[in-house]
Amino acid sequence: MTTLVPVLGDQLSVDLSSLKGTDPAHCIILMMEVAEETTYVRHHKRKVAYILAAMRHHADALRRAGWRVDYVKLDDPDNAGSFTGEVARAVERHAADRIVVTEAGEHRVNAMIAAWETLFGVPVEVRTDTRFIASHAEFAAWADGRKQFRMEYFYREMRRKTGLLVDTKGKPEGGEWNYDKENRKPAARDLLMPKLPHFAPDAITRDVLALVAARFGDHVGSLDDFGIAVTREDALVTQAHFLTHALPRFGDFQDAMLTGEPYLYHAHLSFYLNAGLLDPLALCRAVEAEYRAGRVPLNAAEGFIRQIIGWREYVRGIYFWTGPEYGTRNFFGAKRRLPAWYWTGETDMHCLSQAIGQTLDLAYAHHIQRLMVTGNFALLIGADPDDVDRWYLEVYADAYEWVEQPNTRGMILFADGGLLGSKPYAASGAYINRMSDYCGQCRYDVKQRVGPDACPFNALYWDFVARNEDKLRSNQRMGPVYRNWDRMDAATQGELRSQAATFLASLDAAPKGY
Ligand SMILES: Cc1cc2nc3c(=O)[nH]c(=O)nc-3n(C[C@H](O)[C@H](O)[C@H](O)COP(=O)(O)OP(=O)(O)OC[C@H]3O[C@@H](n4cnc5c(N)ncnc54)[C@H](O)[C@@H]3O)c2cc1C
Ligand code: SF4
Repeated sequence: MTTLVPVLGDQLSVDLSSLKGTDPAHCIILMMEVAEETTYVRHHKRKVAYILAAMRHHADALRRAGWRVDYVKLDDPDNAGSFTGEVARAVERHAADRIVVTEAGEHRVNAMIAAWETLFGVPVEVRTDTRFIASHAEFAAWADGRKQFRMEYFYREMRRKTGLLVDTKGKPEGGEWNYDKENRKPAARDLLMPKLPHFAPDAITRDVLALVAARFGDHVGSLDDFGIAVTREDALVTQAHFLTHALPRFGDFQDAMLTGEPYLYHAHLSFYLNAGLLDPLALCRAVEAEYRAGRVPLNAAEGFIRQIIGWREYVRGIYFWTGPEYGTRNFFGAKRRLPAWYWTGETDMHCLSQAIGQTLDLAYAHHIQRLMVTGNFALLIGADPDDVDRWYLEVYADAYEWVEQPNTRGMILFADGGLLGSKPYAASGAYINRMSDYCGQCRYDVKQRVGPDACPFNALYWDFVARNEDKLRSNQRMGPVYRNWDRMDAATQGELRSQAATFLASLDAAPKGY
Protein backbone atom coordinates (compact mmCIF):
# COMPACT_ATOMS: atom_id res chain seq x y z
CA MET A 1 0.00 0.00 0.00
CA THR A 2 1.50 3.34 -1.01
CA THR A 3 -0.35 6.57 -0.41
CA LEU A 4 0.69 9.53 -2.53
CA VAL A 5 0.28 12.89 -0.76
CA PRO A 6 0.73 15.84 -3.14
CA VAL A 7 1.65 18.96 -1.13
CA LEU A 8 1.07 22.23 -3.00
CA GLY A 9 3.20 25.37 -2.80
CA ASP A 10 0.91 27.12 -0.30
CA GLN A 11 0.56 24.01 1.90
CA LEU A 12 3.90 24.30 3.67
CA SER A 13 2.57 23.41 7.13
CA VAL A 14 3.81 20.53 9.25
CA ASP A 15 0.30 19.81 10.50
CA LEU A 16 -1.38 19.80 7.07
CA SER A 17 -4.66 17.84 7.09
CA SER A 18 -3.46 15.42 4.38
CA LEU A 19 -0.57 14.31 6.62
CA LYS A 20 -2.67 13.75 9.73
CA GLY A 21 -3.06 10.07 10.56
CA THR A 22 -0.97 9.10 7.53
CA ASP A 23 1.73 6.50 8.21
CA PRO A 24 5.12 7.81 6.96
CA ALA A 25 6.21 4.23 6.27
CA HIS A 26 3.52 3.81 3.61
CA CYS A 27 3.42 7.29 2.20
CA ILE A 28 5.26 9.37 -0.37
CA ILE A 29 4.89 13.14 -0.22
CA LEU A 30 5.02 14.64 -3.70
CA MET A 31 6.15 18.25 -4.09
CA MET A 32 6.19 19.73 -7.58
CA GLU A 33 7.58 22.90 -9.11
CA VAL A 34 5.54 23.12 -12.32
CA ALA A 35 5.75 25.67 -15.10
CA GLU A 36 1.97 26.02 -15.40
CA GLU A 37 1.71 27.43 -11.86
CA THR A 38 4.56 29.89 -12.27
CA THR A 39 3.32 31.28 -15.58
CA TYR A 40 -0.53 31.04 -15.77
CA VAL A 41 -0.23 34.61 -14.62
CA ARG A 42 3.21 36.17 -14.90
CA HIS A 43 3.99 36.27 -11.18
CA HIS A 44 6.47 38.77 -9.74
CA LYS A 45 9.99 37.29 -9.76
CA ARG A 46 10.23 37.70 -5.98
CA LYS A 47 6.98 35.80 -5.47
CA VAL A 48 8.18 32.84 -7.58
CA ALA A 49 11.55 32.86 -5.79
CA TYR A 50 9.94 33.02 -2.34
CA ILE A 51 7.54 30.15 -3.00
CA LEU A 52 10.10 27.85 -4.62
CA ALA A 53 12.72 28.53 -1.92
CA ALA A 54 10.14 27.95 0.83
CA MET A 55 9.02 24.70 -0.87
CA ARG A 56 12.59 23.37 -1.09
CA HIS A 57 13.26 24.19 2.56
CA HIS A 58 9.95 22.64 3.61
CA ALA A 59 10.81 19.42 1.75
CA ASP A 60 14.02 19.22 3.78
CA ALA A 61 12.13 19.88 7.01
CA LEU A 62 9.65 17.08 6.18
CA ARG A 63 12.52 14.70 5.45
CA ARG A 64 14.13 15.58 8.76
CA ALA A 65 10.81 14.77 10.42
CA GLY A 66 10.89 11.27 8.92
CA TRP A 67 8.76 11.64 5.78
CA ARG A 68 9.77 10.37 2.34
CA VAL A 69 9.55 13.29 -0.07
CA ASP A 70 9.69 13.02 -3.84
CA TYR A 71 10.58 16.53 -5.00
CA VAL A 72 10.34 17.50 -8.68
CA LYS A 73 12.30 20.62 -9.57
CA LEU A 74 11.32 23.08 -12.27
CA ASP A 75 14.40 22.26 -14.35
CA ASP A 76 14.13 18.46 -14.03
CA PRO A 77 14.30 17.28 -17.67
CA ASP A 78 11.21 15.04 -17.37
CA ASN A 79 9.06 17.62 -15.55
CA ALA A 80 5.58 17.40 -17.10
CA GLY A 81 4.88 21.08 -16.38
CA SER A 82 1.50 20.67 -14.61
CA PHE A 83 0.15 19.25 -11.34
CA THR A 84 -1.88 16.62 -13.14
CA GLY A 85 1.06 15.61 -15.35
CA GLU A 86 3.35 15.27 -12.32
CA VAL A 87 0.82 13.36 -10.21
CA ALA A 88 0.36 10.97 -13.16
CA ARG A 89 4.10 10.31 -13.30
CA ALA A 90 4.33 9.88 -9.52
CA VAL A 91 1.40 7.42 -9.33
CA GLU A 92 3.26 5.25 -11.79
CA ARG A 93 6.75 5.75 -10.30
CA HIS A 94 5.62 4.76 -6.81
CA ALA A 95 2.84 2.32 -7.79
CA ALA A 96 0.55 4.42 -5.61
CA ASP A 97 -2.83 2.90 -4.87
CA ARG A 98 -4.35 5.92 -3.13
CA ILE A 99 -4.02 9.69 -3.18
CA VAL A 100 -4.69 11.94 -0.18
CA VAL A 101 -4.60 15.68 -0.74
CA THR A 102 -5.64 18.83 1.12
CA GLU A 103 -8.08 20.94 -0.91
CA ALA A 104 -6.45 23.76 -2.90
CA GLY A 105 -7.06 27.48 -2.38
CA GLU A 106 -8.21 28.02 -5.93
CA HIS A 107 -11.20 26.72 -7.92
CA ARG A 108 -8.97 26.10 -10.96
CA VAL A 109 -6.72 23.68 -9.02
CA ASN A 110 -9.62 22.01 -7.20
CA ALA A 111 -11.14 21.25 -10.62
CA MET A 112 -7.87 19.52 -11.60
CA ILE A 113 -7.88 17.48 -8.38
CA ALA A 114 -11.50 16.47 -8.95
CA ALA A 115 -10.48 14.79 -12.21
CA TRP A 116 -7.65 12.67 -10.74
CA GLU A 117 -9.70 9.68 -9.55
CA THR A 118 -11.08 9.04 -13.02
CA LEU A 119 -7.80 9.84 -14.75
CA PHE A 120 -5.58 7.62 -12.59
CA GLY A 121 -8.02 4.90 -11.51
CA VAL A 122 -7.06 5.18 -7.80
CA PRO A 123 -9.19 6.55 -4.95
CA VAL A 124 -8.56 10.23 -4.20
CA GLU A 125 -9.41 11.58 -0.75
CA VAL A 126 -9.65 15.39 -0.68
CA ARG A 127 -9.41 16.72 2.88
CA THR A 128 -10.60 20.10 4.07
CA ASP A 129 -7.93 22.66 4.84
CA THR A 130 -7.98 22.87 8.61
CA ARG A 131 -5.57 25.84 8.80
CA PHE A 132 -8.53 28.24 8.75
CA ILE A 133 -10.85 29.16 11.59
CA ALA A 134 -14.17 28.89 9.75
CA SER A 135 -14.88 25.78 7.68
CA HIS A 136 -16.80 26.13 4.40
CA ALA A 137 -19.86 24.67 6.14
CA GLU A 138 -19.65 27.19 8.99
CA PHE A 139 -19.37 30.10 6.59
CA ALA A 140 -22.28 28.79 4.55
CA ALA A 141 -24.38 28.40 7.71
CA TRP A 142 -23.64 32.04 8.56
CA ALA A 143 -24.17 33.33 5.01
CA ASP A 144 -27.13 31.34 3.70
CA GLY A 145 -30.35 33.31 3.69
CA ARG A 146 -28.70 36.58 4.73
CA LYS A 147 -29.78 39.63 2.74
CA GLN A 148 -26.71 41.61 3.70
CA PHE A 149 -23.21 40.41 4.40
CA ARG A 150 -21.17 42.43 6.84
CA MET A 151 -17.71 41.44 7.95
CA GLU A 152 -18.35 42.89 11.41
CA TYR A 153 -21.06 40.34 12.29
CA PHE A 154 -19.07 37.43 10.92
CA TYR A 155 -16.04 38.66 12.89
CA ARG A 156 -18.01 38.65 16.15
CA GLU A 157 -18.90 35.00 15.52
CA MET A 158 -15.20 34.23 15.05
CA ARG A 159 -14.33 36.06 18.28
CA ARG A 160 -16.90 33.98 20.15
CA LYS A 161 -15.71 30.77 18.49
CA THR A 162 -12.04 31.31 19.30
CA GLY A 163 -12.57 33.13 22.61
CA LEU A 164 -10.01 35.72 21.48
CA LEU A 165 -10.40 38.95 23.49
CA VAL A 166 -13.68 37.70 24.92
CA ASP A 167 -14.27 37.56 28.67
CA THR A 168 -15.75 34.69 30.64
CA LYS A 169 -19.28 36.10 30.16
CA GLY A 170 -18.87 36.12 26.37
CA LYS A 171 -18.47 39.92 26.28
CA PRO A 172 -15.81 41.66 24.20
CA GLU A 173 -12.70 42.84 26.00
CA GLY A 174 -13.03 46.52 26.95
CA GLY A 175 -16.75 46.54 26.13
CA GLU A 176 -16.50 47.08 22.35
CA TRP A 177 -16.08 44.53 19.57
CA ASN A 178 -14.22 46.93 17.31
CA TYR A 179 -11.80 49.81 18.03
CA ASP A 180 -11.29 50.87 14.41
CA LYS A 181 -12.19 54.47 15.15
CA GLU A 182 -8.97 54.74 17.20
CA ASN A 183 -6.89 53.38 14.32
CA ARG A 184 -6.85 56.19 11.81
CA LYS A 185 -3.89 58.35 12.74
CA PRO A 186 -1.64 59.76 10.04
CA ALA A 187 2.06 59.08 10.65
CA ALA A 188 4.66 61.80 11.11
CA ARG A 189 8.04 61.52 9.39
CA ASP A 190 9.99 61.52 12.66
CA LEU A 191 8.40 58.31 13.93
CA LEU A 192 10.93 55.56 14.52
CA MET A 193 9.73 52.71 12.35
CA PRO A 194 10.92 49.16 13.23
CA LYS A 195 13.26 47.63 10.63
CA LEU A 196 12.04 44.34 9.17
CA PRO A 197 14.35 41.33 9.79
CA HIS A 198 16.39 40.41 6.70
CA PHE A 199 17.46 36.80 6.04
CA ALA A 200 20.56 36.34 3.90
CA PRO A 201 19.84 33.69 1.23
CA ASP A 202 21.49 30.31 1.92
CA ALA A 203 22.73 27.94 -0.81
CA ILE A 204 19.21 26.58 -1.50
CA THR A 205 17.75 30.06 -1.89
CA ARG A 206 20.68 31.25 -3.99
CA ASP A 207 20.05 28.35 -6.41
CA VAL A 208 16.41 29.37 -6.66
CA LEU A 209 17.29 33.03 -7.22
CA ALA A 210 19.60 32.04 -10.10
CA LEU A 211 16.88 29.81 -11.57
CA VAL A 212 14.24 32.55 -11.37
CA ALA A 213 16.58 35.18 -12.84
CA ALA A 214 17.37 32.89 -15.77
CA ARG A 215 13.87 31.59 -16.41
CA PHE A 216 11.58 34.44 -15.46
CA GLY A 217 13.73 37.42 -16.37
CA ASP A 218 10.82 38.93 -18.31
CA HIS A 219 8.41 38.77 -15.35
CA VAL A 220 7.71 41.93 -13.40
CA GLY A 221 9.70 42.98 -10.34
CA SER A 222 13.13 42.78 -8.81
CA LEU A 223 15.10 40.09 -6.95
CA ASP A 224 17.59 42.59 -5.52
CA ASP A 225 18.46 42.28 -1.86
CA PHE A 226 16.19 39.26 -1.37
CA GLY A 227 15.78 38.81 2.39
CA ILE A 228 12.38 37.12 2.80
CA ALA A 229 12.13 34.29 5.35
CA VAL A 230 11.83 30.93 3.57
CA THR A 231 11.63 28.61 6.59
CA ARG A 232 9.16 28.31 9.43
CA GLU A 233 11.93 29.17 11.92
CA ASP A 234 12.72 32.46 10.18
CA ALA A 235 9.04 33.27 9.68
CA LEU A 236 8.70 32.83 13.48
CA VAL A 237 11.58 35.28 13.96
CA THR A 238 9.63 37.83 11.87
CA GLN A 239 6.50 37.12 13.91
CA ALA A 240 8.37 37.65 17.20
CA HIS A 241 9.89 40.85 15.83
CA PHE A 242 6.44 42.12 14.88
CA LEU A 243 4.98 41.33 18.31
CA THR A 244 7.72 43.24 20.10
CA HIS A 245 8.47 46.16 17.82
CA ALA A 246 5.50 46.91 15.55
CA LEU A 247 2.32 45.55 17.16
CA PRO A 248 2.18 48.18 19.94
CA ARG A 249 1.65 50.91 17.32
CA PHE A 250 -0.04 48.76 14.64
CA GLY A 251 -3.49 50.09 15.51
CA ASP A 252 -2.62 53.76 15.62
CA PHE A 253 -0.92 53.88 12.22
CA GLN A 254 -2.75 51.09 10.39
CA ASP A 255 -4.08 53.43 7.70
CA ALA A 256 -1.05 55.72 7.39
CA MET A 257 1.26 56.02 4.37
CA LEU A 258 4.71 57.63 4.18
CA THR A 259 7.05 58.19 1.25
CA GLY A 260 9.86 55.62 1.22
CA GLU A 261 8.37 53.61 4.13
CA PRO A 262 6.85 50.40 2.78
CA TYR A 263 6.07 48.70 6.09
CA LEU A 264 5.45 51.29 8.84
CA TYR A 265 3.97 49.21 11.71
CA HIS A 266 2.50 46.48 9.51
CA ALA A 267 3.34 42.86 10.20
CA HIS A 268 4.65 41.66 6.85
CA LEU A 269 3.33 38.24 7.81
CA SER A 270 0.82 37.56 5.02
CA PHE A 271 3.52 35.87 2.85
CA TYR A 272 4.09 33.35 5.64
CA LEU A 273 0.48 32.89 6.74
CA ASN A 274 -0.71 32.23 3.21
CA ALA A 275 2.03 29.76 2.30
CA GLY A 276 1.53 27.87 5.56
CA LEU A 277 4.78 28.72 7.37
CA LEU A 278 2.82 30.46 10.13
CA ASP A 279 -0.41 29.47 11.81
CA PRO A 280 -3.04 32.25 11.95
CA LEU A 281 -4.70 31.15 15.18
CA ALA A 282 -1.38 30.71 17.01
CA LEU A 283 -0.39 34.20 15.83
CA CYS A 284 -3.64 35.67 17.16
CA ARG A 285 -3.17 33.90 20.51
CA ALA A 286 0.34 35.38 20.71
CA VAL A 287 -1.11 38.84 19.99
CA GLU A 288 -3.71 38.40 22.71
CA ALA A 289 -0.98 37.31 25.14
CA GLU A 290 0.92 40.56 24.42
CA TYR A 291 -2.22 42.51 25.30
CA ARG A 292 -2.90 40.50 28.48
CA ALA A 293 0.71 41.03 29.56
CA GLY A 294 0.14 44.79 29.26
CA ARG A 295 2.66 45.24 26.47
CA VAL A 296 0.28 46.37 23.72
CA PRO A 297 -2.89 48.48 23.84
CA LEU A 298 -6.30 47.00 23.13
CA ASN A 299 -6.85 48.95 19.90
CA ALA A 300 -3.67 47.38 18.46
CA ALA A 301 -4.43 43.81 19.58
CA GLU A 302 -8.10 43.94 18.56
CA GLY A 303 -7.28 45.68 15.26
CA PHE A 304 -4.75 43.02 14.30
CA ILE A 305 -6.86 40.04 15.40
CA ARG A 306 -9.76 41.49 13.37
CA GLN A 307 -7.62 41.48 10.22
CA ILE A 308 -6.90 37.77 10.64
CA ILE A 309 -10.02 36.14 12.08
CA GLY A 310 -12.28 38.79 10.57
CA TRP A 311 -11.16 39.97 7.14
CA ARG A 312 -8.92 37.05 6.16
CA GLU A 313 -11.54 34.44 7.05
CA TYR A 314 -14.39 36.51 5.63
CA VAL A 315 -12.82 36.92 2.16
CA ARG A 316 -12.00 33.21 2.06
CA GLY A 317 -15.58 32.40 3.05
CA ILE A 318 -16.93 34.58 0.25
CA TYR A 319 -14.58 33.07 -2.34
CA PHE A 320 -15.69 29.50 -1.66
CA TRP A 321 -19.33 30.27 -0.86
CA THR A 322 -19.93 32.15 -4.13
CA GLY A 323 -17.84 29.82 -6.32
CA PRO A 324 -16.18 30.52 -9.68
CA GLU A 325 -19.02 32.80 -10.82
CA TYR A 326 -17.75 35.49 -8.40
CA GLY A 327 -14.69 35.94 -10.62
CA THR A 328 -16.89 37.03 -13.53
CA ARG A 329 -18.83 39.79 -11.75
CA ASN A 330 -18.62 43.30 -13.16
CA PHE A 331 -21.36 45.40 -11.54
CA PHE A 332 -20.38 48.66 -13.27
CA GLY A 333 -19.61 47.00 -16.62
CA ALA A 334 -16.10 48.49 -16.33
CA LYS A 335 -13.88 47.93 -19.38
CA ARG A 336 -10.88 50.28 -19.27
CA ARG A 337 -7.50 48.53 -19.62
CA LEU A 338 -4.89 49.21 -16.93
CA PRO A 339 -2.20 51.63 -18.09
CA ALA A 340 1.27 50.20 -18.75
CA TRP A 341 2.72 52.30 -15.93
CA TYR A 342 1.08 49.92 -13.42
CA TRP A 343 4.06 47.72 -14.40
CA THR A 344 6.73 50.44 -14.17
CA GLY A 345 5.52 52.95 -11.60
CA GLU A 346 6.39 55.72 -14.05
CA THR A 347 3.64 58.22 -13.39
CA ASP A 348 3.80 61.77 -12.09
CA MET A 349 1.11 60.96 -9.50
CA HIS A 350 3.39 60.53 -6.49
CA CYS A 351 1.04 58.32 -4.45
CA LEU A 352 0.76 55.84 -7.32
CA SER A 353 4.45 55.87 -8.17
CA GLN A 354 5.23 55.16 -4.49
CA ALA A 355 2.72 52.31 -4.11
CA ILE A 356 3.60 50.72 -7.46
CA GLY A 357 7.35 51.35 -7.13
CA GLN A 358 7.62 49.52 -3.82
CA THR A 359 5.36 46.75 -5.13
CA LEU A 360 7.80 46.16 -8.00
CA ASP A 361 10.75 46.20 -5.59
CA LEU A 362 9.29 44.08 -2.80
CA ALA A 363 6.17 42.25 -4.09
CA TYR A 364 4.55 43.96 -1.09
CA ALA A 365 2.39 46.98 -0.37
CA HIS A 366 0.39 47.45 2.78
CA HIS A 367 -3.38 47.38 2.88
CA ILE A 368 -4.13 51.10 2.52
CA GLN A 369 -1.80 51.44 -0.45
CA ARG A 370 -3.57 48.49 -2.15
CA LEU A 371 -7.01 49.78 -1.21
CA MET A 372 -6.90 53.56 -1.36
CA VAL A 373 -4.15 54.23 -3.91
CA THR A 374 -3.85 51.57 -6.65
CA GLY A 375 -7.30 50.15 -5.89
CA ASN A 376 -9.11 53.48 -5.61
CA PHE A 377 -7.53 54.69 -8.86
CA ALA A 378 -8.59 51.48 -10.67
CA LEU A 379 -12.15 51.91 -9.36
CA LEU A 380 -12.38 55.58 -10.34
CA ILE A 381 -11.10 55.10 -13.91
CA GLY A 382 -13.47 52.15 -14.44
CA ALA A 383 -10.71 49.54 -14.90
CA ASP A 384 -11.71 46.10 -16.18
CA PRO A 385 -11.96 43.77 -13.13
CA ASP A 386 -10.21 40.98 -15.09
CA ASP A 387 -7.15 43.19 -15.59
CA VAL A 388 -7.19 44.35 -12.00
CA ASP A 389 -7.55 40.82 -10.59
CA ARG A 390 -4.70 39.61 -12.72
CA TRP A 391 -2.41 42.51 -11.75
CA TYR A 392 -2.94 41.98 -8.01
CA LEU A 393 -2.44 38.22 -8.40
CA GLU A 394 0.80 38.79 -10.30
CA VAL A 395 2.50 41.43 -8.24
CA TYR A 396 1.99 40.47 -4.57
CA ALA A 397 3.88 37.58 -3.00
CA ASP A 398 0.92 36.89 -0.67
CA ALA A 399 -1.59 36.69 -3.54
CA TYR A 400 -3.52 33.45 -4.06
CA GLU A 401 -6.90 33.60 -5.72
CA TRP A 402 -8.98 32.85 -2.58
CA VAL A 403 -7.67 35.96 -0.87
CA GLU A 404 -6.83 38.22 -3.81
CA GLN A 405 -10.09 37.98 -5.74
CA PRO A 406 -12.64 39.07 -3.09
CA ASN A 407 -10.31 41.90 -2.05
CA THR A 408 -9.92 43.07 -5.63
CA ARG A 409 -13.27 42.41 -7.27
CA GLY A 410 -15.29 42.91 -4.09
CA MET A 411 -13.48 45.35 -1.82
CA ILE A 412 -11.87 47.75 -4.26
CA LEU A 413 -13.95 47.49 -7.42
CA PHE A 414 -17.42 46.83 -5.93
CA ALA A 415 -17.79 44.52 -8.94
CA ASP A 416 -19.90 42.16 -6.80
CA GLY A 417 -22.53 44.90 -6.46
CA GLY A 418 -22.12 45.18 -2.69
CA LEU A 419 -21.88 41.62 -1.39
CA LEU A 420 -18.57 42.10 0.43
CA GLY A 421 -18.87 45.78 1.32
CA SER A 422 -21.81 48.13 1.71
CA LYS A 423 -20.46 50.91 -0.52
CA PRO A 424 -17.52 51.50 -2.87
CA TYR A 425 -14.27 52.64 -1.22
CA ALA A 426 -14.12 55.59 -3.67
CA ALA A 427 -12.19 58.64 -2.46
CA SER A 428 -10.81 61.90 -3.77
CA GLY A 429 -7.26 63.16 -3.19
CA ALA A 430 -8.31 64.52 0.22
CA TYR A 431 -8.23 61.04 1.78
CA ILE A 432 -4.71 60.34 0.49
CA ASN A 433 -3.60 63.77 1.68
CA ARG A 434 -5.03 63.17 5.16
CA MET A 435 -3.41 59.76 5.61
CA SER A 436 -0.01 60.32 3.96
CA ASP A 437 2.79 62.75 3.15
CA TYR A 438 2.50 61.92 -0.56
CA CYS A 439 0.72 65.06 -1.74
CA GLY A 440 3.41 67.41 -0.45
CA GLN A 441 5.85 65.75 -2.85
CA CYS A 442 3.58 65.56 -5.87
CA ARG A 443 3.55 67.70 -8.98
CA TYR A 444 -0.26 67.97 -8.62
CA ASP A 445 -2.12 70.14 -6.15
CA VAL A 446 -4.46 68.05 -4.03
CA LYS A 447 -6.59 71.11 -3.21
CA GLN A 448 -7.41 71.89 -6.86
CA ARG A 449 -10.25 70.12 -8.64
CA VAL A 450 -9.85 71.49 -12.18
CA GLY A 451 -7.00 72.91 -14.24
CA PRO A 452 -3.64 71.53 -15.38
CA ASP A 453 -2.27 71.14 -11.83
CA ALA A 454 -5.39 69.66 -10.22
CA CYS A 455 -5.00 66.30 -8.48
CA PRO A 456 -6.51 63.76 -10.93
CA PHE A 457 -8.25 61.87 -8.10
CA ASN A 458 -10.56 64.85 -7.45
CA ALA A 459 -12.32 65.10 -10.80
CA LEU A 460 -12.16 61.32 -11.27
CA TYR A 461 -14.00 60.88 -7.98
CA TRP A 462 -16.92 63.10 -9.00
CA ASP A 463 -16.96 61.62 -12.48
CA PHE A 464 -17.23 58.14 -10.93
CA VAL A 465 -20.12 59.33 -8.76
CA ALA A 466 -21.97 60.91 -11.73
CA ARG A 467 -21.18 58.12 -14.19
CA ASN A 468 -22.58 55.42 -11.90
CA GLU A 469 -25.55 57.32 -10.57
CA ASP A 470 -28.08 54.76 -11.81
CA LYS A 471 -26.31 52.03 -9.81
CA LEU A 472 -25.38 53.96 -6.67
CA ARG A 473 -27.92 56.69 -5.90
CA SER A 474 -30.29 54.24 -4.23
CA ASN A 475 -27.48 52.99 -1.93
CA GLN A 476 -28.29 54.53 1.45
CA ARG A 477 -24.64 54.94 2.40
CA MET A 478 -24.04 56.98 -0.77
CA GLY A 479 -26.78 59.45 0.21
CA PRO A 480 -24.45 62.20 1.56
CA VAL A 481 -22.23 61.92 -1.54
CA TYR A 482 -25.17 62.48 -3.91
CA ARG A 483 -26.45 65.33 -1.75
CA ASN A 484 -23.05 67.05 -2.20
CA TRP A 485 -23.12 66.38 -5.94
CA ASP A 486 -26.66 67.78 -6.18
CA ARG A 487 -25.58 70.93 -4.33
CA MET A 488 -23.04 71.77 -7.04
CA ASP A 489 -24.27 74.02 -9.87
CA ALA A 490 -24.39 72.61 -13.38
CA ALA A 491 -21.31 74.59 -14.48
CA THR A 492 -19.16 73.09 -11.68
CA GLN A 493 -20.44 69.61 -12.43
CA GLY A 494 -19.67 70.13 -16.11
CA GLU A 495 -16.12 71.36 -15.38
CA LEU A 496 -15.39 68.35 -13.17
CA ARG A 497 -16.69 65.90 -15.76
CA SER A 498 -14.78 67.52 -18.57
CA GLN A 499 -11.57 67.56 -16.47
CA ALA A 500 -12.05 63.83 -15.84
CA ALA A 501 -12.86 63.16 -19.52
CA THR A 502 -9.60 64.84 -20.59
CA PHE A 503 -7.62 62.78 -18.07
CA LEU A 504 -9.32 59.52 -19.10
CA ALA A 505 -8.70 60.28 -22.78
CA SER A 506 -4.99 60.76 -22.03
CA LEU A 507 -5.02 57.44 -20.21
CA ASP A 508 -6.72 55.73 -23.16
CA ALA A 509 -4.11 57.14 -25.52
CA ALA A 510 -1.22 55.82 -23.37
CA PRO A 511 0.15 52.24 -23.74
CA LYS A 512 -1.71 49.44 -21.93
CA GLY A 513 -0.25 46.80 -19.66
CA TYR A 514 -2.04 43.73 -21.06
C1 LIG B 1 -6.98 45.11 -3.48
C2 LIG B 1 -6.43 44.29 -2.37
C3 LIG B 1 -5.81 43.10 -2.65
C4 LIG B 1 -5.30 42.32 -1.60
N1 LIG B 1 -4.73 41.14 -1.92
C5 LIG B 1 -4.27 40.35 -0.93
C6 LIG B 1 -3.67 39.11 -1.23
O1 LIG B 1 -3.56 38.72 -2.38
N2 LIG B 1 -3.21 38.36 -0.19
C7 LIG B 1 -3.31 38.78 1.11
O2 LIG B 1 -2.88 38.06 2.02
N3 LIG B 1 -3.90 39.93 1.41
C8 LIG B 1 -4.37 40.74 0.44
N4 LIG B 1 -4.94 41.93 0.76
C9 LIG B 1 -5.12 42.29 2.17
C10 LIG B 1 -3.97 43.08 2.80
O3 LIG B 1 -3.66 44.18 2.00
C11 LIG B 1 -2.72 42.22 3.01
O4 LIG B 1 -3.06 41.06 3.70
C12 LIG B 1 -1.70 42.96 3.83
O5 LIG B 1 -1.33 44.15 3.18
C13 LIG B 1 -0.49 42.08 4.07
O6 LIG B 1 0.51 42.78 4.73
P1 LIG B 1 0.83 42.59 6.27
O7 LIG B 1 1.10 41.17 6.56
O8 LIG B 1 1.90 43.57 6.61
O9 LIG B 1 -0.56 42.98 6.89
P2 LIG B 1 -1.05 43.74 8.20
O10 LIG B 1 -1.56 45.06 7.81
O11 LIG B 1 0.00 43.74 9.23
O12 LIG B 1 -2.33 42.86 8.60
C14 LIG B 1 -2.25 41.65 9.30
C15 LIG B 1 -2.76 40.47 8.56
O13 LIG B 1 -4.16 40.50 8.42
C16 LIG B 1 -4.56 39.79 7.25
N5 LIG B 1 -5.41 40.68 6.46
C17 LIG B 1 -5.60 42.01 6.65
N6 LIG B 1 -6.52 42.47 5.79
C18 LIG B 1 -6.89 41.43 5.02
C19 LIG B 1 -7.79 41.29 3.96
N7 LIG B 1 -8.52 42.31 3.50
N8 LIG B 1 -7.90 40.09 3.37
C20 LIG B 1 -7.18 39.05 3.81
N9 LIG B 1 -6.31 39.12 4.83
C21 LIG B 1 -6.18 40.30 5.43
C22 LIG B 1 -3.30 39.41 6.52
O14 LIG B 1 -3.05 38.05 6.73
C23 LIG B 1 -2.22 40.27 7.15
O15 LIG B 1 -0.99 39.62 7.20
C24 LIG B 1 -5.43 42.75 -0.27
C25 LIG B 1 -6.06 43.96 0.00
C26 LIG B 1 -6.55 44.72 -1.04
C27 LIG B 1 -7.24 46.01 -0.72
S1 SF4 C 1 -1.91 65.25 -5.18
FE1 SF4 C 1 -3.26 63.65 -5.94
S2 SF4 C 1 -1.99 62.44 -7.32
FE2 SF4 C 1 -0.62 63.67 -6.08
S3 SF4 C 1 -0.05 62.38 -4.35
FE3 SF4 C 1 -1.82 63.58 -3.70
S4 SF4 C 1 -3.57 62.29 -4.18
FE4 SF4 C 1 -1.84 61.47 -5.32
